Amino acid sequence: MQDGYRFLFGPVRSRRLGRSLGIDLVPLKVCTYDCPYCQVGVTTLKTLERRDYVPVVDVLAEFDHWLAQDGQADCVTLAGGGEPTLHARFGEVIDAIGARTKLRRILLSNGSLFFLPEVRAAAIKAEVVKATLSSWDQASFEQVHHPHPDLRFDTFVAGLKALRREFKGEYWLEVFAVPGVNDTSAQMIRIAEVARLIAPDRIHLNTAVRPAQDGKTLSVSVAELEEFAKLFNPVAEVVGVSQSLAQPQTEVITHAELATRILSLLQRHPCTASDISGTIGQSVSEVEKTLKDLLEQGALRLEHRDTQNYFVANSPEPLNP
Ligand code: SF4
Repeated sequence: MQDGYRFLFGPVRSRRLGRSLGIDLVPLKVCTYDCPYCQVGVTTLKTLERRDYVPVVDVLAEFDHWLAQDGQADCVTLAGGGEPTLHARFGEVIDAIGARTKLRRILLSNGSLFFLPEVRAAAIKAEVVKATLSSWDQASFEQVHHPHPDLRFDTFVAGLKALRREFKGEYWLEVFAVPGVNDTSAQMIRIAEVARLIAPDRIHLNTAVRPAQDGKTLSVSVAELEEFAKLFNPVAEVVGVSQSLAQPQTEVITHAELATRILSLLQRHPCTASDISGTIGQSVSEVEKTLKDLLEQGALRLEHRDTQNYFVANSPEPLNP
């Protein structure tokens, strides 16, 4: 990854996706929700307005540059600083990626706009769509996500179901468990009932593993998540609790480039040194050396949470909304 990409990040490693090149189609932090547990940060523009938040031509120019210079990844993921389906032309971006590569195209969305036929028509161009379902009625929807006031839970679920009918690719749902909000068995059973109506191919059960924007959101324990997982059909996979992947060093990069990659990652969410090592594919000792320099330069700060040290970027570089 060269210095200075504005819309591309990574590739980052994930157990489910392998090496994933991220593409940000909206600036930090434009979203239809403002989830208190959001690891990207507070929503600065909560909106339902779909428009060209960033120029597609510039996104594709970066993608072409990345393909020419590197091009090594398992998939390309539309995700990042907010809700990608807010970009009015995200479907064109998916098409353009498909015209250039055979990489799997993944759309990570909160699903709130799938009630719009034009959003579904764009979403089904991807090979994998992952949407979030962490509530069971209007009140819980508002509590979990702090959605835009015009969003209704019933419409949201109707959109998720409509996508299932129209989408022939892999459809995943993510359920995010938040202590004190949706973490009782009775609440999870209600979410599982809604999920059953949507009939996804996979369900991922997740919880906060990094410091959230409110500094308060805690994790649900792994033991509880594993119990909740059995309530779902198909049985949910517990993810996100141990993100670190012991990865060997896979490529030689300069200290400056490693610093750029680390900052790019931390501008999206806080990580431990071991998370960074696994995600970027560099040794923990190299990562720690670079983190020390970045701390001394004031680019990062350290937050202690759940017995772990998380590195947090001090000044994310928001793209201009
Ligand atoms: S939907 Fe995702 S990006 Fe938007 S506020 Fe919630 S967690 Fe953050």
